[in-house]
Amino acid sequence: MKDADKTKEQLINELLELRKNNAELEGSGRNNKQSEEELIKIKDHLDNIIESSLDGIVVGDNTGNIVKVNDSFLKLIGYRFEEVNGKHVMELSITEKGTYESTTGETVKIDEEYFNYAKKVVYKKLFEEGKVTNWEAYYLHKDKKIVPVEMNITYLYNEIGEITGSVGIIRDITERKKAVATLKKSEEKYHSLIELANAGIIVAENNKITQVNRKAEEIYGYSKEELIGQSPSILTPDKCKDRHRESLNEILTLGETNKMIFEEEGIRKDGSLIPTEISFSLEWEKENMIIAVVRDITERKNAEEERKQLLDELKDKNQELEQVFYVASHDLRSPLVNIQGFSRELEKAFKDVQSILYRSEKIDPIIKETLTPALEEDIPEALQYILASISKMDSLLSGLLRLSRLGRAALTIKNLDMNKLVLDITKSFEYQVKGTGITLKIDELPSCLGDETQINQVFSNLVDNALKYLNPSQTGAITISGRRENGHAVYYVEDNGIGIAPEHQDKIYEIFHRLNPSATEGEGLGLTIARKILDRHAGRLWVKSQLGKGSIFIVSLPTN
Ligand code: ADP
Repeated sequence: MKDADKTKEQLINELLELRKNNAELEGSGRNNKQSEEELIKIKDHLDNIIESSLDGIVVGDNTGNIVKVNDSFLKLIGYRFEEVNGKHVMELSITEKGTYESTTGETVKIDEEYFNYAKKVVYKKLFEEGKVTNWEAYYLHKDKKIVPVEMNITYLYNEIGEITGSVGIIRDITERKKAVATLKKSEEKYHSLIELANAGIIVAENNKITQVNRKAEEIYGYSKEELIGQSPSILTPDKCKDRHRESLNEILTLGETNKMIFEEEGIRKDGSLIPTEISFSLEWEKENMIIAVVRDITERKNAEEERKQLLDELKDKNQELEQVFYVASHDLRSPLVNIQGFSRELEKAFKDVQSILYRSEKIDPIIKETLTPALEEDIPEALQYILASISKMDSLLSGLLRLSRLGRAALTIKNLDMNKLVLDITKSFEYQVKGTGITLKIDELPSCLGDETQINQVFSNLVDNALKYLNPSQTGAITISGRRENGHAVYYVEDNGIGIAPEHQDKIYEIFHRLNPSATEGEGLGLTIARKILDRHAGRLWVKSQLGKGSIFIVSLPTN
């Protein structure tokens, strides 16, 4: 160990030991040459210890006048040796009351109390016990700043117990004081942060609450004073206590870096329950210290409840609507069939009446002429309208029926080979494509999960539309491609047809909505059905299109 590394205690002990040896040697024979050499060695060693110490060392004679100091002490008080040699040690400490600037940067008030304490230390400890340890006081630097120090002072005695001198070891504790002040400041900052936090903060040590902030008081309705010292479990209702304990045990066994967040009901002072979200953590490497950050989630819970209720209502309404759909489309068909049958009979009967009237010679030509507009125009035209409307209504009802059945049909979800599925579909359109010059290109397609029949229906509708809505003035080109994107299979059915104006792109999925009903055959149901199928598959259908340039219908389906 280097001398500079030794503690004050060690240094004092060593000094005393050396002094004892010295006295023994002196007593055992001053004239002995060997002893003299040893004495010189010991003195050198003693000087070395004093000089190399990082702490200031002051050696006084039996009256307290300085006889020796080391460089560390001179540095501490800012004087040269000549300036302190022979002075009384007390002259270098503070002798007057007042406000002093300290080397820590603070201003320190030295008052009566300081001197009273100093006196007590000197009289009680030094005079009675012969030593003072770890005494915190101040030295006065030459530049008038005060230096905070920690001192150990020991009296030296001769063989018959008389005081022969004193040794003081003085440590400059400026840096230590500064560190303590910084720590205090940061602790204050931390306290005000906790106080200002918009979440309840509760700190517990060894299952006792040691700190709570304003928000925690607000959440639980207790005051700080009422909570401190209590077990945190008073904030947990009985029914949640087991789970709460389990969570805490988990944190304690998982260790300080693990945090846990969970929702739990809390109990307020008035016994009312409050939904909370609590995050726990072990902190500051202190065993059994837990910090709980608590949020009042009443509003969130209410909103969730409201949302759930709305969703349930919506589901009920949807089911009701589907039921109405089904009943309407199913039950309206039988009267429609009657109307259709009787209309045809009416048509037939009318034709009979018509031919009898024309053929009969007995009927007055004037009556015949009067009846002509009704027989030749009005009645046949009305019958034609009735029959056309019946057939339109028939197709609308069967469309509705298909749609409502779709919602009820059970799904058989499996992995689908989309290359095969799309190839089968395009084969069924082969006849339509042949001889038209239309190019139909199918890229390699990724597989997906779905009900084969329903997914077939989606792609059949899309390919059918791509062919139906081509531009007659140019050669048609249709491409089907696909790729995997973010865990989904995404398929593109692209055509260079008439396209869809942006303002209509949302409407095309509406039931029976057709943009140009007279131009092509159709019911306006294909895309409604496709969307409904994809909804049930947790998939999506959307379009990118430019009027006159073509459309890309995009389908996304899950893959796992
Ligand atoms: P339908 O084809 O029987 O009319 P859909 O529901 O399949 O019914 O389509 C709705 C409407 O969307 C169509 O009437 C048409 O106006 C438009 N549409 C669908 N596909 C395309 C397409 N590939 N190109 C241009 N318009 C399209």
